[in-house]
Order: sequence, then structure tokens, then C-alpha cells
Amino acid sequence: MSTPSGRREEIATRLARVRARIAAACAEVDRDPGQVRLVVVTKFFPASDVRLLAELGVTDVGENRHQEAEQKAAECADLGLRWHFIGGLQSNKAAAVAGYAHVVQSLDRRKLVAPLERGAATRPEAIDCLLQVSLDPPEADHRFGAPPSELPELAAAVEAAAHLRLRGLMAVAPLDSDPAEAFSRLAAHHRELLIDHPEATWLSAGMSGDLEHALRAGATHVRIGSAVLGSRPRVK
Ligand SMILES: *Cc1c(COP(=O)(O)O)cnc(C)c1O
Repeated sequence: MSTPSGRREEIATRLARVRARIAAACAEVDRDPGQVRLVVVTKFFPASDVRLLAELGVTDVGENRHQEAEQKAAECADLGLRWHFIGGLQSNKAAAVAGYAHVVQSLDRRKLVAPLERGAATRPEAIDCLLQVSLDPPEADHRFGAPPSELPELAAAVEAAAHLRLRGLMAVAPLDSDPAEAFSRLAAHHRELLIDHPEATWLSAGMSGDLEHALRAGATHVRIGSAVLGSRPRVK
């Protein structure tokens, strides 16, 4: 175990490295790094790490499992962070997720809209929603993410919900594929969405291993876990 100050230094060093990668990738394509939001994915890491991140200037954190997220958000309620839910959503948990998440990035089924809306209605502000789109080949088994053909209907359902705000798209590059190619397809889906939903300007793509490719493709949000916090204690 590292000492608390050792952990702080470790996170600070890794965070600086990630911020430098973001700045370099933006410089390459003439983008303003100030327009890119870094979401640090804190799944499997303790609330004490979330606290260190907040001290180091992180404003946005991401979690992918409801119970863990709910508990950490409660423990860290004093920090004023924005909580992003980025994991597979079950419809029987969606209302509860909407109780603490400021952003739900993994909205991939029509069935999730009603419970999210119900949860969001109890909050002072609307919840920002990203539609998660699958970049897997059509014949793949789609575990997470809507097939691109379902995006128009899903977008319309979110827009019709009074307490949900359609903000854009989210995706994960498929394993064993070229992330540049996958993210360029994602950018095309995003351009198409923007025709009918010009306010849906967010594009969440890019993880520790592929953030440069995502930023080249226009990502406005990157979701970075291990590059900031180290390797996770166990793999999901
Ligand atoms: C875990 C996770 C990340 C972060 O992955 P790293 O490779 O650790 O940066 C990003 N997005 C989603 C959806 C995740 O589940």
C-alpha cells in the first residue's frame, strides 16, 4: 500500500501525463484542449481517490456499476463533482441511477427512457444524456450500445422526455479493431444525429489506450481510467 501522500503524487503525475497527451493530440489537429472534457473513470477505486482527483482539479468522474457509483457519489457529495454513468444500464436500476448521475452516457434502449425520466423528475436539473451507439459489425452480438439504425427513434424519445437533455453520442471502440476506423464511423453517426438535433454536440469517445484517435475524430469527452489511476484491482 502506498501512503496517502504517495498516492496523491502518483495520481498527480499520471494526471499530468494524460493532460499532456490530450493537449498534444489537440495541437495536432488544431483543436482547443479547453473544449475537451476529461472524465476520470473511478470504477474499482476508492472514494479517497475521488477526493484526491477533486483536489487535483478533476471536475468529472465516471462509474459503470450502479451500487458502487451510488455509494461513492454519496460519500463524495461535498466535492461538487459531475457524475457520469457509463456502464450497462438495467431498466430496473435506471431511475435510481438518475438519482445521482448528472450525465448518463450509456442510454442504448428505448426502455430506459421512462425510468430515467422518472428519476430525473426528482432532481432540480435535467439530466444530460448521451446515446451509446455500438460500433461492432452488424453480425456481432450487441452487448452494449444501440445499433446505429435505432438512433433516430432513441433520440426522439429522449427529446420528448421533459427532464432529460439529449447531448450527443458515446461509444467504445470494438476490441481487435482499428480505433481510427471505428471512431471515424462514430463521427459520421454524430454528423447525422446533428442534422435533426443540432444541440447534441457532445461526443464521448476515447479511453486510456485510444484517446488520441478519439480526439482526432472530434471527441468532446474522453473517459480515462487506468492511465490516471493505474490498473484496476480486477477486470470486469
Ligand atoms: C472502464 C471504462 C473506461 C476507462 O477505461 P481505461 O482503459 O481504463 O481508460 C472508459 N469507458 C468505459 C465505458 C469503461 O467502462
